[in-house]
Amino acid sequence: MKKTILLMCTVLLAVFAYAQQKPRIIILATGGTIAGAGKAADRAGYEAGKIPIDDLVGAIPSVKKVADISGEQISSIGSQDMTIEIWKKLAVRANEIFDKNEADGIVITHGTDTQEETAYFLDLLVSSDKPVVLTGSMRPATAISADGPKNLYDAITIAASPKAKGKGVIVSFNEGIFDGRDVMKMSTTKVNAFFSPNTGPIGQVYDGKVEFYQASMREVNVKTPFSVKVDTKLPRVDIVYMYADAPSDQIDMLVSKKVDGIVIAGVGNGNFNKAYMDAVKRAVAAGVIVCRASRAPSGRVVLEDEINDAELGTIVSDDLTPQKARILLMLGLTKTRDKKQLQQYFFTY
Ligand code: GLU
Repeated sequence: MKKTILLMCTVLLAVFAYAQQKPRIIILATGGTIAGAGKAADRAGYEAGKIPIDDLVGAIPSVKKVADISGEQISSIGSQDMTIEIWKKLAVRANEIFDKNEADGIVITHGTDTQEETAYFLDLLVSSDKPVVLTGSMRPATAISADGPKNLYDAITIAASPKAKGKGVIVSFNEGIFDGRDVMKMSTTKVNAFFSPNTGPIGQVYDGKVEFYQASMREVNVKTPFSVKVDTKLPRVDIVYMYADAPSDQIDMLVSKKVDGIVIAGVGNGNFNKAYMDAVKRAVAAGVIVCRASRAPSGRVVLEDEINDAELGTIVSDDLTPQKARILLMLGLTKTRDKKQLQQYFFTY
């Protein structure tokens, strides 16, 4: 009898302890303004990536009630200096964390300038359905009304929420939750810097409460065929910007450099002038994969519309911005050079 009671108590205690367990969140810190230190509180100038991750979390002590948090410093850079090497490190580490069940969610602190690119790169490569949430800030930690502590608190709250499972890689900013595929930095300096022009936010976080309203029909829950290791060499893909009366020199220069792919940030529906048209023909003849995207911030580039892609030998980015189309083309080219297959990637992810 005594033994049975003891056993029951042990089971109850174990169940209680399990119920009390907080989600385990690992923060991968890369730098950016969120870790930036300025000379004075009333000046926006600062040095990015100066403040270590432990100090950033230390500034929001109440977040310890939300999750068990640990941090790893991956880099300490402004995100204008983000590199493919760091992207690969992040993807490899994120997959390792989930494969070894080291955490229930990951938060990545990141400068805002290239955050949308890192989010999409990881979206295509992280194979777990556990949450990965990127965030940053527009004001350095030393500024009046610094937005970093709130953004970090919100990102941890989202990563700790069961609702965020299966949503792909997310960007959390200024109380908005955005799909990593669709989000874009829309303002150079304002705190509401991020938006998804084609789809809008997928949810909101406020006062510690997370709510989702819609989900992407694209890469979410779709296992991509892509994977990278730290020593994977990605094909070189560059972006060329189209503008009125643009000469074709940049395209010809890239072909002479033997790049694997070129994304054209075209005008409107991925259009370009005659000089570009002739240069694109030369690029395609030289075996370069040319993808038509648009410098317009919303809408999609439609295959076989104003331009005869079948005849020209080009593919289109669908609704990906040029900087995101470059990422998909780089990863796509690790798998194939077949244009039909590459185009299919753009209609799938
Ligand atoms: N250039 C900085 C960066 O991207 C500024 C943007 C920021 O973090 O807000 O790291």
